[in-house]
Amino acid sequence: MYSIEQTDKQLLGTSAAIRYHLHFENAHRHVVRVVMEVDVARNGALVLGLPVWIPGSYKIRDYISTLGSFSLTNQNGKSLSWQWLSKNRLEVEAEEGMLRVEYMYYAYEKDSTIRSSHVTRNHAFLNLVTCCLYVEGREQEVHHLWFHHNRSLWKNVSTSLSPVKEDFTPDEPLVLGALNYDIVVDSPIEIGNHFVNSFEHQGSVVEVAIAHRGNFNPEWLEERIKTIVETEARIFGGLPFDRYVFIIHLFPGMRGGGLEHARSSVNAMDSWGDTAKLHRLLSLLVHEFLHVWNVKRIRPRELGPFDYNRENYTRMLWLVEGATSYYDDHLTYRCGFYTRADYLRILSKDHLSPFFRQPGRNEATIKDNSFQAWVKLYLPHEDSLNRNVSYYLHGGLVFLCLDLWIIAESKGTKRLDDGFRALWAIYKQRPEMGITEEEFIEAVEKATGVAIRKNLLTWLNGKGDDLPFDELFSRVGLQWKEAAPTEMLKIGEDIPTMPTLPKLFTGLTLKTDAGRLVVAQVEDYSPAFEAGIGADDEIIFVNSSRCTSADEFDVLLAKRGENKFSELVIASDTGLVTLPLTPKKMLDFALTVREDASEEEKALLECWLQR
Ligand SMILES: [Zn+2]
Repeated sequence: MYSIEQTDKQLLGTSAAIRYHLHFENAHRHVVRVVMEVDVARNGALVLGLPVWIPGSYKIRDYISTLGSFSLTNQNGKSLSWQWLSKNRLEVEAEEGMLRVEYMYYAYEKDSTIRSSHVTRNHAFLNLVTCCLYVEGREQEVHHLWFHHNRSLWKNVSTSLSPVKEDFTPDEPLVLGALNYDIVVDSPIEIGNHFVNSFEHQGSVVEVAIAHRGNFNPEWLEERIKTIVETEARIFGGLPFDRYVFIIHLFPGMRGGGLEHARSSVNAMDSWGDTAKLHRLLSLLVHEFLHVWNVKRIRPRELGPFDYNRENYTRMLWLVEGATSYYDDHLTYRCGFYTRADYLRILSKDHLSPFFRQPGRNEATIKDNSFQAWVKLYLPHEDSLNRNVSYYLHGGLVFLCLDLWIIAESKGTKRLDDGFRALWAIYKQRPEMGITEEEFIEAVEKATGVAIRKNLLTWLNGKGDDLPFDELFSRVGLQWKEAAPTEMLKIGEDIPTMPTLPKLFTGLTLKTDAGRLVVAQVEDYSPAFEAGIGADDEIIFVNSSRCTSADEFDVLLAKRGENKFSELVIASDTGLVTLPLTPKKMLDFALTVREDASEEEKALLECWLQR
């Protein structure tokens, strides 16, 4: 039976017939030596495999590509005959006693580690899905992992795997366990000399593990994590674990992102923090921690149990990532990290505006974009913005609509939280099985007394423009409308040589590539689209001026003004072309309280923004 629930107590004193020994003598070369031992009851064929993907990140990653030098022997060291059955599964003629499998794992993903591993002479971060083979048919057994690192060199270990005994002497390997293979996959581990601290909340232990280099203050972050844990526990009426680990990677230049697990999360961010990055980090931590409930436990039926050998399709990522994306900034506000004005500004700037500026929002339903996440969101190209939109962005707005609808229809007596509490109750009754779309609707309607079926189905099966923001914002006394364009940053007086020019809309995204200014993306039906500009075109001149940066490009266009023709000289793969570009005014929106809002509307607004 599928379960990702585990408490540390359950592993104390256990033994395991499947054991992995991880050796780090080649950490400086990013190589981990893995020795897997499997107790075998009788002679016969055994199939071992490595997952091709990690739950939470819907992409085939073929982790097997970084494993090699396999040696399969019996307990006396005799080589056994074995062969590959497919790219990630092998079959061995095992003999009674013990099967020993040794292999080398190259554990070094440079830019983003959350879905992979990163081992250097300074630390080891491992997602065990990348290097621990499963034994087909024996996934439900207890698994032990032996970590053979030099514990005086790497002093700290942070993971939700559970120790199999109370104390380990400094000289013996650390042995940690999981009740089944799903939990092995769901338990990343950070080993090194990172910042560690822990606190208790309502009888549960929360550990904070921060591997960092930069100007973040770990203690500052830990204080905010306490608030996040308290705020989210309040919504669901407690914490569903005995212990939880926030693993946080803050390194310069690191690609931001997170990955959720049942008793931990991995959160990564470029470490040179300015205020905007700090907000993003807090919102990321809120997001990944909410996944403790939404996706790890409350989940679509298709997402657990998993088939690790292929894509696991679901049409319900609108629930998994949509609700979590709505709640991430909403709860960051409710944690007190944003003022009300901040939240309304962020909602407009980071959620509404990017969605309503993206042409692809009307090209596919959110359910189709969810189903095809494997080849859409996770395999983007320059033209993706015209063909689809992220179910994070779209789904977040679906849940914003749903929350406002529930608040308005229930006259402020219910909100989305009530729906999620009902879904949580369903999980507690039957943790082994996820929910369907129909069960989601029924549970939320029953908990809130509000009819959501017709609206929700219209939003899920329709286009992006079907989301009724004018109506819903109006019902809570808000308006979202075009506002004065954002001006360039102005410091002190206007300097005659540096006029503050508003940025114009072209529909182009530019990037610099080896010193060249190159077109990254072109929005359909935008001025750049009309001008005939395509991805990979290199900008050489704008109105006869040499142009080498995106900022310079903006200024050169803005100098001439909106709706005024500019001449671009572009180098394409065949030669130079001259194209006319007529930029438009950049639409800037602001979400604000309507001056004429009624008392009733203001009361509903208070309900929505109640902390
Ligand atoms: Zn997420």
